[in-house]
Amino acid sequence: MKDLLVMKFGGTSMGSAERIRRAAELALKEKAHRPVLVVVSAMAGITDLLIDTLKHAEVGDREGVEKRLRQLEERHVTTCEELLPREHRAEALEEIRATVTDVRRIAHGMLMLGERPPRSVDEAIAVGEHLSSVLMAAYLRSLGTEAVAVNCKEIIVTDAAFGRASPLMGPTEQRARAKLLPLLERGALPIATGFNGATVDGQPTTLGRGGSDYTASILAYCLDAAEVWIWTDVDGIMTADPRIVPDAAVLKEVTYQEAAELAYNGAKVLHPRTLAPLIEKQIPAWSKNSFAPEKPGTRIAASIRAPKGARAVTSMTKVALVSIEPASGAVSGPRLMSRAMDRLADLNIELLALSSSSYQQSFCFLIRREDLPAAFKALEEEFALELAHGYIKPIQIDEQVGLLAVVGEGMRGTPGIAGSVFTAISREGINVIAIAQGSSELTIAIVVHQDGLEKAVRAVHRECRMAELANLS
Ligand code: ADP
Ligand code: ASP
Ligand code: MG
Repeated sequence: MKDLLVMKFGGTSMGSAERIRRAAELALKEKAHRPVLVVVSAMAGITDLLIDTLKHAEVGDREGVEKRLRQLEERHVTTCEELLPREHRAEALEEIRATVTDVRRIAHGMLMLGERPPRSVDEAIAVGEHLSSVLMAAYLRSLGTEAVAVNCKEIIVTDAAFGRASPLMGPTEQRARAKLLPLLERGALPIATGFNGATVDGQPTTLGRGGSDYTASILAYCLDAAEVWIWTDVDGIMTADPRIVPDAAVLKEVTYQEAAELAYNGAKVLHPRTLAPLIEKQIPAWSKNSFAPEKPGTRIAASIRAPKGARAVTSMTKVALVSIEPASGAVSGPRLMSRAMDRLADLNIELLALSSSSYQQSFCFLIRREDLPAAFKALEEEFALELAHGYIKPIQIDEQVGLLAVVGEGMRGTPGIAGSVFTAISREGINVIAIAQGSSELTIAIVVHQDGLEKAVRAVHRECRMAELANLS
């Protein structure tokens, strides 16, 4: 749809009645001169609260479950009362109560089973977004705008990988166009839920933590939107996480590839999978601060006037380094690597970095810590024979590590950057455990001991003068 703007509001941007009011104003301002589709996250902290509720259900803590369900209800009822004039509250209040009852039903199932089946988890944790969309739509209607809460379980068709589902773009596009275009064409403002979808046969799914950004780009793709604005709580994509590097600066522009590398390497400001649908249709995106909407934010697009050098540094914790080393020359390292990679792929486990040594034929790779038990089991099974006969050494696991990644298009063909990065890290007395660089020269990924990770991030940021470069451009 020509001129369509997709606006996504994150958890903090939806975190209270006041924040929802602000978000609604931002949407209305744009809707005055072009069609707008809003995608909302759950209110800040709600997805965590829902997950926590289910964990208490799994271990049989009925009281703990009830306490958290009360918090869920109170937070939304209070927000509803602060947000809506009395005469506009009834429908939203009823929806909040019905939704809490749904979560209670799911939690009680888990209490009885003593289990937390992934498909039931997805059904329960997607309700945060549903409640947000109901509240925002009701508020906009109270202002006289035709706003419609839309649940993306009716639109985004996914595979059945609960907790990390992938959209099936064909059927999703059909449904998105059938359900959203008529609303947009008649001038209504759809408020869609981020984060969730459903399988072809209607089982609710979620796209992974932080997945509302991805919802925005999926819908933008399906509706041929002109732009996507991702509203969050910082001024845009920055040279580093400002929580770790206080003097990090906002990047005025980044390429799709830079944004994707940053996101995949831990920059929480964007969900890693957000970029792919945008790249395919060359839809530009902006990362903007809903607390300071007058600031320009960061433009994410295909080509930018990128300066030479490293532009940003990110880090990732809660990872594990797995090392596999042949004990005899009789086994082929590449063959071991290919078998290990196949097993990880079968389990849908994402490889964060991979590094190998040709002489020893050994290799190591980094995965998320949550994937470690499944990965370890699969590798022990795969190599049971080699391990039993001593052809490979016992599989080594190091969980005390973190990933640091330096990103920038301008690193291509610019000598000396790796040197500055390693100098900065070694000057802090931090040991580099593994290094990986993709063939695109866009990212240098470095595994260090987790105790030194934040220090290393600050040192690299300083040494590469990232804030200065960002302010210059
Ligand atoms: P939302 O709820 O709006 O989706 P998130 O918490 O998911 O917001 O993402 C925003 C947060 O990402 C920021 O508060 C910031 O701490 C963190 N962050 C990490 N790396 C970066 C970066 N390079 N630039 C900006 N923010 C970053
Ligand atoms: N509410 C979900 C989460 O906290 C999705 C999102 O915020 O993007 O992970
Ligand atoms: Mg987010």
